[in-house]
Amino acid sequence: MSLTSNAAAVQGGDRRALAKAITLLESTRADHREQADALLDMLLPHSGRSLRLGISGVPGVGKSTFIEALGLRLIRQGHKVAVLAVDPSSSVSGGSILGDKTRMERLSINAAAFIRPSPTSGALGGVAEHTREALLVCEAAGFDVVIVETVGVGQSETAVAGMTDLFVLLQLPNAGDDLQAIKRGVMELADLVVINKADLDDAAATRAQATISGALRIFGHRGAAAPAAVSPVLKLSALQGAGLDEFWTVVQALATQRRSSGAFTARRQAQRRSWLWDIVHARMRDVFEQHAGVRAALPAVLAQVDAARTSPTVAARALLNLFAKN
Ligand code: GDP
Repeated sequence: MSLTSNAAAVQGGDRRALAKAITLLESTRADHREQADALLDMLLPHSGRSLRLGISGVPGVGKSTFIEALGLRLIRQGHKVAVLAVDPSSSVSGGSILGDKTRMERLSINAAAFIRPSPTSGALGGVAEHTREALLVCEAAGFDVVIVETVGVGQSETAVAGMTDLFVLLQLPNAGDDLQAIKRGVMELADLVVINKADLDDAAATRAQATISGALRIFGHRGAAAPAAVSPVLKLSALQGAGLDEFWTVVQALATQRRSSGAFTARRQAQRRSWLWDIVHARMRDVFEQHAGVRAALPAVLAQVDAARTSPTVAARALLNLFAKN
């Protein structure tokens, strides 16, 4: 299939063409990358028209249950829902927490849904880069809600918050868990906090809701700028489907408010810039590390630094000078 007809098939909403396009984007072959760039250029004008929703939380909090229940509900309302994943653990352990095929079985067979597991190779930077591209392609294929899911580990939450319009943190209804998220600074990334499994212990969920709301107010959290009627901390039961309609109402209210204030556009603009710089920095690093002069000098410089005979600052400057010379 030519690139143009692949692009046309993607725009026609053909899920196989979409999957194929994403596979091309994930390829590490230089000739594939050229084609992928051309494809992205063709599809870019048709992207951008979705609501991008980031979802995170520890394993077992109920992410897939939540996404499936929400996704099916949105599809019934006429939406098309794509689910992408950022799972840095797959590149570290070789196994994937998020990618496993048995998750979201009902959603995955639905014709109005598209589910793509996390790219399995590369560091987080690479995985996030591929997911950002996949997101654009899903939008070009007409998916108007794109959910990007991640596990609550390390930098992946920052990466997902950096590519979505609203970042939602799922929590369990117990206080220890709340405090962990607050300590790790993840709470500050969240536009919305959802306490799941409220059916197990509604009183605990209500307590967690109060604790987290209080903590968010202390942080001067950006969710606090929401209209008084909109609460940034919700409790629900993904398993029973209770609270999902309220969740979606709040999401829409936040999105509408941010669209009219200009915050929505500003956030996407800032995200595009940081995407650009992320790629430039990553490539610069590759070029630096592959530079012949740098490579030749490196063993001796490292030995000096290891033995504390040269300071890292002086050594770094010496390497950068070597790099800048030719
Ligand atoms: P993930 O690892 O975050 O994707 O979590 P899963 O969606 O796989 O859910 C983990 C377990 O929690 C499963 O056994 C779900 O059935 C269960 N679960 C998810 N949501 C709820 C809920 O709202 N209430 C209850 N009681 N169980 C839930």
